[in-house]
Amino acid sequence: MPTLAQQVKHHAAELGFDDCRIAAATEAPHAAEFHQWLAEGKHGDMAWLARDPARRSDPRIVLPGCRSVITLAMNYFPGDTPPENPDPGYRIARYAWNDDYHDLIEKRLKDFDTRLITLGGTQKRYVDTGPVLERDFACAAGLGWNGKSTMQIHRRLGTWFFLAELLTTLELPADAPFGDHCGKCVRCIDACPTRAITAPRRLDARRCISYLTIEHKGPIPEEFREAIGDRLYGCDACLDACPWNRFAATSREASFHAREEIFRHRTRDFLALDDDSFRALFARSPIRRIKRPRFLRNVCIVLGNTGTPADLPALHRSAADPDPLISEHATWAIERIHARHPAP
Ligand code: SF4
Ligand code: SF4
Repeated sequence: MPTLAQQVKHHAAELGFDDCRIAAATEAPHAAEFHQWLAEGKHGDMAWLARDPARRSDPRIVLPGCRSVITLAMNYFPGDTPPENPDPGYRIARYAWNDDYHDLIEKRLKDFDTRLITLGGTQKRYVDTGPVLERDFACAAGLGWNGKSTMQIHRRLGTWFFLAELLTTLELPADAPFGDHCGKCVRCIDACPTRAITAPRRLDARRCISYLTIEHKGPIPEEFREAIGDRLYGCDACLDACPWNRFAATSREASFHAREEIFRHRTRDFLALDDDSFRALFARSPIRRIKRPRFLRNVCIVLGNTGTPADLPALHRSAADPDPLISEHATWAIERIHARHPAP
């Protein structure tokens, strides 16, 4: 007869999770550091992180009677190269090459929850959006370790996986931690274009391109615009640099593989999107969540860094956009292109 923990892990594998490990439900080991990070304002515009930090630090406050945290990994690696995009090209963080993972993982977690109810458990399920310090519990459970980039590293999946967790009232034996395997490596710190990793495991989100191009709502500070380069949405630089990714295999979930329809667009083509065509192109994509003005802001940054005079007509139309977020960034891009290509 399989043990309760074996049954739980069997369900996880059946539901398509690539790893499942268990941590005891205690206060998160890095609760104090998290509170300090918030106090220093390093979470930028991500106000949701600062809401109710005590709940984030202790799963027993979130789910009374919580005994265990089931930590789960799902590989999303869509491969090394996206479908070719037309010159001058742009980069989108790999996790956003296709469908929003929240939808897929949430559905699997719901099924998982139903199965655990039949085993006598009461659960709360989370993928990113939840209140728990998920990386702390993943480390405690041995689901990899927290790398110097602050990203979770898994010995088989590298950095290309989503974390999810179920808080449960089931009493499950905790798995052993795997330990820190960064050693003397500092590749992620050296690779960061904006020096956002200020020390090992210290991220100033306000300098991070992922934050600036996704979470940050307003104008992108000028000091970071050039460093963003051709990154249209998110940044994989610290992940690409990690040697633990040498073991990464392509995800078996087709909905994480690149959506060619998106990558067929030239950078300037995106400027022609109105609200409706933006929503249609990015239906089910995580990119849809930042909405058209923020996305076009990012398009202008990329064109400012990579564009040519051929991009100027589209940028001039955007410079007249009624939304100041778009018009200001388009004007900046026009000036940058003129500076690179002075009129003869
Ligand atoms: S995502 Fe990019 S900008 Fe952010 S820490 Fe990593 S390398 Fe730096
Ligand atoms: S790049 Fe090196 S230091 Fe950074 S997370 Fe990976 S192993 Fe750790």
